[in-house]
Amino acid sequence: MTFETIRKEPGTFPAPPNLDDYEAARASFSWDDARRRLDGLPGGKGLNIAHEAVSRHVARGQGDVVALRYLDKRGGQRDISYAELDGLSSRFANVLADLGVEPGERVFSLIGRVPELYAAVLGTLKHRSVFCPLFSAFGPEPVQQRMSIGDATVLVTTPALYRRKVLPIRDSLPSLRHVFVVREGEEAAIPDGTLDLRAAMNAASESYEIGPTSPEDRALLHFTSGTTGKPKGAVHVHEAVVAHDVTGYYALDLRPGDIYWCTADPGWVTGTSYGIISPLAQGVTMIVDEAEFDASRWYQALQQHDVTVWYTAPTAIRMLMKAGTEMARQYSYPSLRFVASVGEPLNPEGVAWGQEALGLPIHDNWWQTETGGIMIANFASMDIRPGSMGRPMPGIEAAIVEHDKERGEVRVIDEPGQEGQLALRTGWPSMFRGYLHDEERYAQCFADGWYLTGDLSRVDEDGYFWFVGRADDVIKSAGHLIGPFEVESALMEHAAVAEAGVIGKPEPTAGSIVKAFLTLKPGYEPSEDLRLDILGHARRRLGPAVAPREIDFVDDLPKTRSGKVLRRLLKARELSLPEGDTSTLEESS
Ligand code: ATP
Ligand code: MG
Repeated sequence: MTFETIRKEPGTFPAPPNLDDYEAARASFSWDDARRRLDGLPGGKGLNIAHEAVSRHVARGQGDVVALRYLDKRGGQRDISYAELDGLSSRFANVLADLGVEPGERVFSLIGRVPELYAAVLGTLKHRSVFCPLFSAFGPEPVQQRMSIGDATVLVTTPALYRRKVLPIRDSLPSLRHVFVVREGEEAAIPDGTLDLRAAMNAASESYEIGPTSPEDRALLHFTSGTTGKPKGAVHVHEAVVAHDVTGYYALDLRPGDIYWCTADPGWVTGTSYGIISPLAQGVTMIVDEAEFDASRWYQALQQHDVTVWYTAPTAIRMLMKAGTEMARQYSYPSLRFVASVGEPLNPEGVAWGQEALGLPIHDNWWQTETGGIMIANFASMDIRPGSMGRPMPGIEAAIVEHDKERGEVRVIDEPGQEGQLALRTGWPSMFRGYLHDEERYAQCFADGWYLTGDLSRVDEDGYFWFVGRADDVIKSAGHLIGPFEVESALMEHAAVAEAGVIGKPEPTAGSIVKAFLTLKPGYEPSEDLRLDILGHARRRLGPAVAPREIDFVDDLPKTRSGKVLRRLLKARELSLPEGDTSTLEESS
């Protein structure tokens, strides 16, 4: 089965896209112009993310626009305007200042998606300390590991999370001076050694003047997903907002009036770059859903809130696919204009499913914690080649390269179709400025003016980039180099397959054989017949050299908290090797 190009005929868009002519936008783009889309701090005092995301809209008379529509777990809804969010974040900044926290110190969060989290992120940025969000589902160990690498001074959490996850490790965190808790429901008492955040914010002033902020001042610390190993702490600066803003405009097609929903948790970089900063910089209304994934709740939210732009991830798309297209069709989405996905390769099957279920194809885009913002994207105006990540953002030079480590030289591979490492020319504003406490590793990511991403890719004759696999995951089998993505995508085309994880399993003759772990869609049971049927399908699609030799049916695939398949764990378990860092592993239900 081949997936045909999805054509975007001019004049057939629901609304004219922000980027209507890719080549022209690329040719005329400059980061200086992008910077001029922003206001800068009043009085020429620099560039601060929180000012661009919130305060400037208030200064321009847009304070009454809803910034955040918060849907709580119990079915309640609260709309928070830009003016209100500006006030709440100023209160948080004042709380930090009153405690004597210094700019540059680290403020961590370990809390679900509640309004105080958003106030804390933006308040920390106003105060010019550094924000580091953690997944609230992390256990004590991952929390300890990250807070100690990050030298946390302040933590925002809840009483229950504090008791379960922080109290047992607090003694090991000498730098942690202040723990704020957000009380849930009617809960009265707060744990000893903590402060009541709402009370502190209520007592603080709601006006705060942001101090001079250099674009190079540290703003955010983000731990990578931990898919390939121990998570790294990537440092980002205030200048990143230039990229957050322009990528939201071009790659997500955001504009004022949009109702936008990013399903990512702020514990993952997508949830801050595109779940807070970028959409607010565009002045849109964001949906924030406190609840976890639930297929019918999600469809209902898309319909009920007239969501116009939706940004989600392959793991969620696969779960929706598993729930069946019929469920999606029970609702309608007349307002929905643009749907995008990030985090893992989006199988062509997923792109096509969007058209069937939502009436719109899904636009894959690629970036990393380290890049801080979207680098390669399927833009609204551009034809989609299902399975491709799209083309580089205006202002981004991407190439397939060969890296000679000995000499520190990089050779660009010009021939279309050649596989090699994906690299980006350094110098875009949201590029990470370091791995905290690991300068050597940071230095190793760069050579000859390129940032080396660690992902393998190829580019076709029209400049579309195709993901092959992470360098660590690529399988060498009988002289072939096999990217797990291609094999997984072919397996996903089989009607019974819900999810696929593919690894190389060492074998004396071939070097490695391809092995697949599959979960099945409801209504299918593992059986020898089904295994043979799937193997037959894979052989026809991929040929015998690339098709898996072995297939195991499993109930769940191990995933990171951000929903990525942990192939290294599949492999370690298959070979009875040590599991390595599992701090990011999502416990299966
Ligand atoms: P770690 O660096 O700790 O191993 P991670 O790389 O998964 O974890 P992230 O920064 O969250 O951490 O993810 C970036 C990576 O996710 C990319 O390098 C790439 O491998 C993968 N990725 C993201 N988007 C896409 C996409 N659209 N297509 C293919 N792969 C993607
Ligand atoms: Mg990575």
